[in-house]
Amino acid sequence: MEDAWFLAQAKELLAVVRSKSSAPAIVGGSAFTIMPEAILDYIGAEYGVVGEGEQVISSIVADLVAGKEVVRLTDAQTVPLSAAQMGSPRYDQDILSYYHEESGQINMQTKRGCPHRCVYCTYPSLEGNKFRPQDFGAVVDDIEKVQRDFGISSFFFTDSVFNDAKGYYLQFTEELVKRDLGITWTGFFRPQGLGREELQLMKSAGLYAVELGTDAGCDATLNGLQKGFTFADVLEVNKACIAEQIPAAHYVMFGGPDETYETVAEGLHNIEQIDTNVVFAFSGLRILPGTELHQRAIDEQIVAADNSLLMPAYYFSPHIEADKMNEMILATFKKRREWIFPPSEGQKRLTVMRNFGYRGLLWDTLVTYDKGRRRS
Ligand code: SF4
Repeated sequence: MEDAWFLAQAKELLAVVRSKSSAPAIVGGSAFTIMPEAILDYIGAEYGVVGEGEQVISSIVADLVAGKEVVRLTDAQTVPLSAAQMGSPRYDQDILSYYHEESGQINMQTKRGCPHRCVYCTYPSLEGNKFRPQDFGAVVDDIEKVQRDFGISSFFFTDSVFNDAKGYYLQFTEELVKRDLGITWTGFFRPQGLGREELQLMKSAGLYAVELGTDAGCDATLNGLQKGFTFADVLEVNKACIAEQIPAAHYVMFGGPDETYETVAEGLHNIEQIDTNVVFAFSGLRILPGTELHQRAIDEQIVAADNSLLMPAYYFSPHIEADKMNEMILATFKKRREWIFPPSEGQKRLTVMRNFGYRGLLWDTLVTYDKGRRRS
């Protein structure tokens, strides 16, 4: 568990804006939508938008300009936007250059929502509990525009799960193949039902690595998180990635619901079977409002019911002591350079690589195959 808290910076940023302008401030976005009242009170903006803001913002601004009364918090979550309403972003040279310089890639989205019910996750409450695909032709038009007008050819798809069970991702990939833009890309993947055939198709469209929401090390803790897949599924997907020489990173959290010292040991043993690929381990789970984990943490007296959660609070299973668990993880993770724990270790390595001018995911450079390096 390592705290990252950005609201103080948001508050400072608002102070800078206020020093230059007397215009009212409207805030929104995913973090804001998770705890709107508490964040609005903390940073002191005049108005907030809960949910998808791209349509409603225009009418708020029009009402403010016309001197009409605007409610402090506008709820834009009641009717999710349709594909036609999810418009193209306005691409700005300065903003794109900043993100490209920092990360080597630009974020894109092909769909919103998630039908899964992982206990700690806010995606379903933020974006709705079913996948809402965008107009794939329009998304690829945006990619083409960013490539043509700004010279950027590397992308990260921020969909909750790229490889949805309905196969929207395959339709989108076919559109990419058809347009043959010569881009490279990656995204968040679910380690289930992802075989060589699907990977081959995506690789032919520019997929160069996958980030896997493996989340836990054994079936008991995968169940505790309500992941809906098993560790055997994880190993199957891992094997397919190796066969296709697509580097994969597994993100695994220890200390969640139903974790015991026995499940930690079993999880570490299982992770030893994740051949070749990268594993990032985390200790403890951030508790966010409106999740099943939040209710469980209240029931188990890990947080008080009236805690706003504005300051990060973490769930650790009552069956383990965090320090002892961390020692167990460290003892295993120090054996391989592509297993990273604690997360600050990964950050240190990334900083060094960035200082040498490397950009992109960077963890993928840790993956090598028997016959040499993996990237063509
Ligand atoms: S963790 Fe991933 S799969 Fe689970 S609910 Fe969240 S977005 Fe969906």
